Amino acid sequence: MNEKNSTAERLEGSLVAENIREALRPRIDAFVTTAQRAPRLGLLLAGDDAGSEVYVRNKILQSEKLGMETDLRRLSASATFSEAMAVVQEFNANLTVDGILVQSPLPRSMGNDAEQRIFDAIDPKKDVDGFNPRNVGRLVQNRATLVPCTPAGIVMLLDRQGVDVSGKHAVVIGRSDIVGKPMAMLLLHRHATVTICHSRTSNLKSIAASADLLVAAVGRPCFVTAEFVKNGAVVIDVGINPMTVREDIVEIFGESSKKVQAFDRRGQVLVGDVHPGVNNVAGGLTPVPGGVGPLTIAMLLSNTVSAAEARLRDSKLSVK
Ligand code: NAD
Repeated sequence: MNEKNSTAERLEGSLVAENIREALRPRIDAFVTTAQRAPRLGLLLAGDDAGSEVYVRNKILQSEKLGMETDLRRLSASATFSEAMAVVQEFNANLTVDGILVQSPLPRSMGNDAEQRIFDAIDPKKDVDGFNPRNVGRLVQNRATLVPCTPAGIVMLLDRQGVDVSGKHAVVIGRSDIVGKPMAMLLLHRHATVTICHSRTSNLKSIAASADLLVAAVGRPCFVTAEFVKNGAVVIDVGINPMTVREDIVEIFGESSKKVQAFDRRGQVLVGDVHPGVNNVAGGLTPVPGGVGPLTIAMLLSNTVSAAEARLRDSKLSVK
């Protein structure tokens, strides 16, 4: 939040994520010694969403790299809601499953409220995404144990970067249950003055431009341009948006940019919600990829270890 005199500092989430993972190793070792088994994450992947496949694969790879166990259950796109619920109930009952993750989106055929009903059914002590109403309530009361991973990772990044939001104006664009709302709560608990903006907000640009900290969780490629950003503000780009039209990528990033080179290799690139022009105005900015994304997975691992430790402490856990 310093006055601007150069290109925005890159806030490297991937480095902080690496630190988070390393700090988990001794905790996992200690858990294994006491419980005689590794912390275990149960995952439900229903349907054939390509993005979900990639996310779940990464979550499993990173869990196992740290010595944690995973239990992946797959359901087809035509599976029923009852089948999904049965998997969750089985994970709830299984004493060796410490964390439960249900990958969104669930197939449309399961109904509009399927995800919420599933989140409602997850044992709050195993709710490593922090979406169960009990954990949402605890977050609002500032006594959370399991916090949604993306905003939790962002707070970790701010801490590691020494960004103190107390008394500052934080603007969150987006009001989803998984990013916008919990982000706003966490910033409020850190004594920021928080404004939540959304698709019906009037004067969005001018509100955003008064922020010392701007969090963009909109889901629209390069939506937040330099006009949205106060000189020297810290900008967190949560968005992960595929772009598939070369001309659009050239127009935003320039013909000789890395994004265009990546597009020419892969036929698609992932871009954030923040326009590259913001680099000339912001004091700090998270890159996409390599910013918020790695933090989200690191916090999932962290929540799983915390859930495992808490269950062990509760000593309701029979070993093996
Ligand atoms: P969402 O679609 O649930 O919510 C988007 C929010 O943006 C809504 O609250 C909506 O009101 C607001 N919005 C939409 N258009 C707007 C406009 N024109 N002006 C102002 N506000 C507007 O999305 P989400 O799940 O919160 O995710 C947001 C983005 O973050 C997506 O790109 C998603 O892929 C990405 N995401 C990234 C991570 C990560 O780990 N990096 C994690 C979760 C989500």
